[in-house]
Amino acid sequence: MSERTLAIIKPDAVKKQVIGDIIHRYEQAGLKPVAIRMLHMSKSVAEGFYAVHNARPFFGSLCDFMSSGPAVVLVLQGDNAIKKNRDLMGATDPAKADAGTIRKAHGTNIEFNAVHGSDSPETAQFEISYFFPGQDIFQ
Ligand code: ADP
Ligand code: MG
Repeated sequence: MSERTLAIIKPDAVKKQVIGDIIHRYEQAGLKPVAIRMLHMSKSVAEGFYAVHNARPFFGSLCDFMSSGPAVVLVLQGDNAIKKNRDLMGATDPAKADAGTIRKAHGTNIEFNAVHGSDSPETAQFEISYFFPGQDIFQ
């Protein structure tokens, strides 16, 4: 079933100049970009996005990281897009990520791990509307 997921190419990956490589991986996997924005999140925008993690010990550091430089946020569409993107990303900790995954290739550590992907239909809906309110999503 075709569905949509939210992906973020995080500030570490933008700094490493691997935006193109990461988008190529999405397209090769059949995940079609249907909306793309580049933005430098304020700390409060990062805090709102990651509100579900606000009790975690790494929350402050995570929000500092996500607001440390520009990021690319995308809506990806395709069959089983949410799981497909999670598989493509690899484990949260790049050291534990499978060979061939984005985090294995471009992640530095469990925090600076190159990409974000929604983890359920509910979070995808929240996350897409967080960064793409309105009509700027294509088919
Ligand atoms: P994922 O991004 O794989 O869904 P989580 O939702 O658990 O992982 O965490 C959100 C983000 O918080 C991670 O992608 C990573 O950047 C950061 N993070 C997760 N766990 C840790 C940790 N133990 N220490 C520092 N940062 C972390
Ligand atoms: Mg998560």
